[in-house]
Amino acid sequence: MSKLTLAIHGGAGTILKSMLTPELEKLYDDGLQNALDAGYAILEKQGSALDAVAAAITSLEDNELFNAGRGSVFTKKGINEMDAAIMDGSNLQAGAVAGVRNIKNPIILAKEIMLHSGHVMLSGNGAKEFALNRGIEQAPDEYFFTKYRYDQWIEIRDSDYYQLDHKEDNLKGMPHEDKKFGTVGAVALDAHGHIAAGTSTGGMTNKRFGRIGDSPIPGSGTYANDKTCAISCTGHGEYFLRAVVAYDVSGLMEYKGLTLQEACHIVVKEKLVALGGEGGLIAVDALGNYDLCFNSEGMYRGVKTSGGINKVAIYKD
Ligand code: ASP
Repeated sequence: MSKLTLAIHGGAGTILKSMLTPELEKLYDDGLQNALDAGYAILEKQGSALDAVAAAITSLEDNELFNAGRGSVFTKKGINEMDAAIMDGSNLQAGAVAGVRNIKNPIILAKEIMLHSGHVMLSGNGAKEFALNRGIEQAPDEYFFTKYRYDQWIEIRDSDYYQLDHKEDNLKGMPHEDKKFGTVGAVALDAHGHIAAGTSTGGMTNKRFGRIGDSPIPGSGTYANDKTCAISCTGHGEYFLRAVVAYDVSGLMEYKGLTLQEACHIVVKEKLVALGGEGGLIAVDALGNYDLCFNSEGMYRGVKTSGGINKVAIYKD
């Protein structure tokens, strides 16, 4: 049996200890731990890495603290448009949705697209129609409304500025209790030696109508290949798209023979930094090596393994 491993993230960015009250910090820790437990329970029952990734992400999407599903940020038009992707490292199958509205769990829709649409990615109304036909759960606009995200958008909606929801400059004047951050993702290694990755996001606050980030793009924000690694990214998507981050990590392992940690370090701490891209990623390989790597002040993250590791963290070590 393989070493079971599940790693998750809830977004990276300017996340400083001074920004979170102990109460809010505990809510984040609990949210991360619940997601780890939900995904790991599947791995323990010999379930697939794919299902574990979907379960962990569903838990994070349902938690309004995170910028995915329920807690998604607002676009320039004042609506929520979500992106998500999932990838199976055992066969390189992938499913993705872009710019969808009113889907309670975009990661479930991405998985359904992978398994039943004959395509890799559906967007907007086409994705919605497919979701309706497949009986995927919908939710009304009110479900996605969170006051903090709304206020965050109101502050910048008249500008051409768009931002990660966890930039320090958009926190000025906000009560500390109201901080809600984080695109979400998960990577897993199952008992059968297979790995998978998934990512789900509301994107960036005040993003243009129709803007699609890195999260749903296989190879950029999400990638899995049993031969190399499973990766889920978070950060300023435009840079992650241009740097093809997730596949670059895989490529460095496959073609250059680097270890998982070496490849993650080069891509996140050297190449992305040189480009100006803030953020991070979580990674696992088929041997159970993992990395939680970021170049920002913090990243909501967690890992649970059959080797007895079970931890969540927020700030730089
Ligand atoms: N990468 C996401 C995007 O650009 C945002 C995030 O990770 O917070 O849509």
